[in-house]
Amino acid sequence: MQEFALIARLAQRLRARRGDTRIGIGDDAAVIAPAAGQELAVTSDTLIAGRHFPDDTAPFDIGFKAIAVNLSDLAAMGAEPAWLTLALTAPALDASWCDAFIDGALAAIGAASVDIVGGDTTRGDLSITVTAIGTLPAAAAITRAGARVGDLVAVTGTLGDAAQGLALWAEREQQQDAHARFLIERLCRPQWRNGSVLRGLVHAAVDVSDGLAADLGHILSASQVGARIDIDTLPASTALMHTVPDAAARRRMQLSGGDDYELCLILPAAQVDAARAAVDAPLTVIGVIEAAPGLRCVDASGAAVDPLQDRAHGWDHFSG
Ligand SMILES: [Mg+2]
Repeated sequence: MQEFALIARLAQRLRARRGDTRIGIGDDAAVIAPAAGQELAVTSDTLIAGRHFPDDTAPFDIGFKAIAVNLSDLAAMGAEPAWLTLALTAPALDASWCDAFIDGALAAIGAASVDIVGGDTTRGDLSITVTAIGTLPAAAAITRAGARVGDLVAVTGTLGDAAQGLALWAEREQQQDAHARFLIERLCRPQWRNGSVLRGLVHAAVDVSDGLAADLGHILSASQVGARIDIDTLPASTALMHTVPDAAARRRMQLSGGDDYELCLILPAAQVDAARAAVDAPLTVIGVIEAAPGLRCVDASGAAVDPLQDRAHGWDHFSG
C-alpha cells in the first residue's frame, strides 16, 4: 500500500471527536487549542519489536500496547489524556495489518475523549513511537518528587501479571488454561488507569512499567526519602497465584516484573479512602515512606527480607 493511500485510510478512521482539536490528521501539522489556564503534559514512548513486545505479537495488541503505555504515563502525572500522535515504522504497510493495528489503538483509547491527531509512516524494522498530550489545571501535576515521610505507598490493580504472561508466551497458541490466557492478555493489552481523578489526593505517583522496585525507586530518589514495604501485601491476581504457587518466586516477579502499567501512589493515610473510591481499580496499601533513603522489604511478621538479592531491580531494556 502506498503511503498516501494509507494516510488517507487512517484519516478516515481517526476523525477528531474533540472540539479543541482544531486541525487533525491530513495537514502538515495538527493544531490543538487547550483551554486558557490549562497546562499540557507531554510524553513519548517507543516500542520496538523483539524488545518491548515479542516479534510475533498480533497487530491489534501492538496498537493497543503502544497507546496504553503512553496514556499510563499521562495517568501517572494526573493529566486528562487528550491528543496522540503515532509514528509507525513497518517492513510493509499492509492494509489489513494497519486496520488491526488501528483497531487495537482505538480499543486502548476506549471511551476516553482522545484524538489521534497526526503521525508518520515509514518502512523499516517494526517500531512504533507514540506521543501523548494531556491537560492539567495550572500547577496541579502529580510528580515523582512529592512523597513525604509518613505517607503511605499504595498500588492499583495487581502486580506481576505481565511478567508471568511473558514467561508463558511461548506456549500461548496451545494454551487452554484460563489463568494463563488472562496473564498473556495482561501483557498484551495493559489497562491504563485514570490518574486525573487522583489530583489533590496523592503526593506522588509513577506508573509501574519497569517493575515496582525500580519505579518506586524513582519516586524515592526524586523525593529524597526511603520506603518500607510489606511484601506479603503485594496484590496478586488469582491467575498469578495459580500459575506461580511458590510465594518467593511470585514476590520476585511482583517486585521486579515490568509491563503491568498499574499506578504506584504515595498519599497521606487520610486520603486512602477517597483515592480508593476515585480510582478505576482496587487500591492496596503496601508500605510507608520513611526518612532513611532506600527501599526496605519486610514480611508480614515484620522481619527484613531481600526478595531481589542478586537480581537486577526492574527491567533494563538496554541490558539484554
Ligand atoms: Mg512512566
